[in-house]
Amino acid sequence: MKSDLFQAPDYYQVDDLLTDEHKLVRNTAREWVKKNLSPIIEEYAQRAEFPKELINGLAEVGAFGSYIPEKYGGAGLDQISYGLIMQELERGDSGIRSTASVQSSLVMGPIYNYGTEAQRQKYLPKLASGEWMGSFGLTEPNHGSNPGGMETKFKDMGDHYLLNGAKMWISNAPICNVAVVWAKNEEGRIHGLIVERGMEGFSTPETHNKWSLRASITGELIFDNVKVPKENLLPNKSGLGAPLLCLDSARYGIAWGAIGAAMDCYDTALRYAKERTQFGKPIGQFQLQQKKLAEMITEITKAQLLTWRLGVLKNEGRATSAQISMAKRNNVDMALKIAREARQVLGAMGISGEYSIMRHAMNLESVITYEGTHDVHLLITGLDITGLNAFK
Ligand SMILES: Cc1cc2nc3c(=O)[nH]c(=O)nc-3n(C[C@H](O)[C@H](O)[C@H](O)COP(=O)(O)OP(=O)(O)OC[C@H]3O[C@@H](n4cnc5c(N)ncnc54)[C@H](O)[C@@H]3O)c2cc1C
Repeated sequence: MKSDLFQAPDYYQVDDLLTDEHKLVRNTAREWVKKNLSPIIEEYAQRAEFPKELINGLAEVGAFGSYIPEKYGGAGLDQISYGLIMQELERGDSGIRSTASVQSSLVMGPIYNYGTEAQRQKYLPKLASGEWMGSFGLTEPNHGSNPGGMETKFKDMGDHYLLNGAKMWISNAPICNVAVVWAKNEEGRIHGLIVERGMEGFSTPETHNKWSLRASITGELIFDNVKVPKENLLPNKSGLGAPLLCLDSARYGIAWGAIGAAMDCYDTALRYAKERTQFGKPIGQFQLQQKKLAEMITEITKAQLLTWRLGVLKNEGRATSAQISMAKRNNVDMALKIAREARQVLGAMGISGEYSIMRHAMNLESVITYEGTHDVHLLITGLDITGLNAFK
């Protein structure tokens, strides 16, 4: 494994838009990734194994609950700091960023926003420290882009709820201590329930044979007459809007994260193009390779500015779901295109695990699908600008 030579591109001096705290948080995460993640990630991805040894370090850099208040164990940071941490983690690997996104936005987020004070105190500190890992169950075998059709349901049995159904493609499922699960009550209304490992009838089989996000663990959540205590229902928001608001936060983090993956691919390709010689000169001197590199840095710069502005709006509580969709869609597409182009700049070496590019490219094939597919985000923008629903 080569040492991590990453140098972050900042063509438009976007750093000037960041506060000292943003830069400190970002640099801490960047150094942590160089020291702890980069040296081991390729081997874990090749083995399709989640590096559990990184959990404590992720907690220490504030990746679990970055914007959750400190009194619940979170880092109490703003939205731009959260985004910058996601960028740095995904610069290392999208799978590790996925683990952090799920824990922060999809597990701690709903418990903090929709939970009782007792639920916040019981779960958030353990999730922030990494003592407990969480998962988020929305997608089902028959309902992906259309989660409103979900079949998982719960019944009021007087002193508890009885939960039945199945979720699939769930990040962190096989290692989770708690799962935030979305299910319909007898009236067909969607609610969030906190399901804990050990509850009878709850199992989390692992999903194998993934060519993407191999260092992130994925699985199913199966509920076979699971008795869920009544105090585990998230009381303060229900309906499809509840999980969708959680997804807004995770999608926002992905918009930043994708820039990290793109930066890593660009930086690797740029260095290689200056070092690799063919026909008596560095390949970076050929116009065709310069076109690729120039277009990469242009797209990264546009994405940095888009995302920084979105972060400002999010800090002010003004970012709309549609704006977040635009950034998620644009940035992941941008990163995937850059990964493919960067891979070509490296020729055969581009497919080697000696470099990170092919791993990023494979990872981004999941990132472009989860948390709303590329198509779904386009339909959200279309609906927002025309007022006309093209979903059905
Ligand atoms: C590695 C990984 C981890 C994941 N982690 C989680 C997790 O932690 N929790 C969770 O709940 N889910 C998770 N998911 C699931 C993910 O969110 C879904 O895969 C995604 O929402 C798409 O659903 P689907 O796969 O069922 O595709 P489908 O909804 O079946 O879509 C298939 C295709 O049809 C298109 N399509 C669908 N509807 C329309 C339409 N109206 N108009 C035009 N085109 C349409 C889609 O864009 C897509 O191209 C994960 C997925 C992956 C791959």
